[in-house]
Amino acid sequence: MIKLAVPNKGRLSDKTVAILNRAGFKFNNVTRRLSSRVKNYDMEIIFARARDIPEFLSKGTVDMGITGLDVVFEKKSDARKLLDLDYGGCELVLAAPKTKKIKTIAELKKIKNSRIATSFPNITKTFLDLNKVKAEIIEMSGAVELAPKLGIADAIVDLSSSGETLKINDLAPVQTIMESTACLFANKDSMKKKKDDVNRVKTALDSVLFADEKKYLMANIPKKSMGKVKTIIPGLSSPTIMPLMGTDDLFAVQAVVDEKDTANIVEKLKKLGATGILILNIEQLTP
Ligand code: AMP
Repeated sequence: MIKLAVPNKGRLSDKTVAILNRAGFKFNNVTRRLSSRVKNYDMEIIFARARDIPEFLSKGTVDMGITGLDVVFEKKSDARKLLDLDYGGCELVLAAPKTKKIKTIAELKKIKNSRIATSFPNITKTFLDLNKVKAEIIEMSGAVELAPKLGIADAIVDLSSSGETLKINDLAPVQTIMESTACLFANKDSMKKKKDDVNRVKTALDSVLFADEKKYLMANIPKKSMGKVKTIIPGLSSPTIMPLMGTDDLFAVQAVVDEKDTANIVEKLKKLGATGILILNIEQLTP
């Protein structure tokens, strides 16, 4: 059996459950228990805090995990990143009060005995060392953005996605330290010992990500326009072309197309006299 840790609450929780369900892993999530057996796969889902998952991954408490890249870096976990899951996007930024005239690292350096509040002390220390900034790191577990107002710190290092929280607290970003998204990780021993299982989970999630970039297109095309269809719809492979019952003049065409090209393709097909154009979402797609 393979163990997969997922965030039990917070920003990454709902989207993680959603992507796992779409990948075909069905499990009971309503009661938010500590763990849940996947009904149709030999897998146990462990619900944990996003911040605890990196350590579970290093210690081998779980074989795989989904959490933010930021916390994996912060906890110095040796977990292997398998996939970027494209949600939970945010930046770890150095930010300072608008009034404090700290707009660059150089200006931060000028402040004597400066203090920086953060819940990412390890990443902050590395960042400060790299930039040769001498500052005291004030570790906080939450509400970091309040630290300057409370007089505890001159600047902060915190996560930001829209920048709204920073703005509300009269803070302005000075520099982005790292970008983060939710990612799929694996324990390094499990990657060898449970290679097939780990790859199966990775492929299932990857097929959801791949499907999200694609659409399934169906259309009826007049026979006289068929020659041009292949140039308009390159498709994942060649489009499927079928004769329609009861008519010699129309063919049904089906193909997988890039989502970004869909509007363009529909326009071109209409010009060729296509009718009954249908665009469908794809649940999973493995090329
Ligand atoms: P949680 O503390 O459980 O809500 O999850 C925090 C994780 O969500 C972080 O470690 C990031 O990977 C991710 N995240 C995405 N956007 C933000 C944000 N604006 N603030 C904090 N965490 C974020």
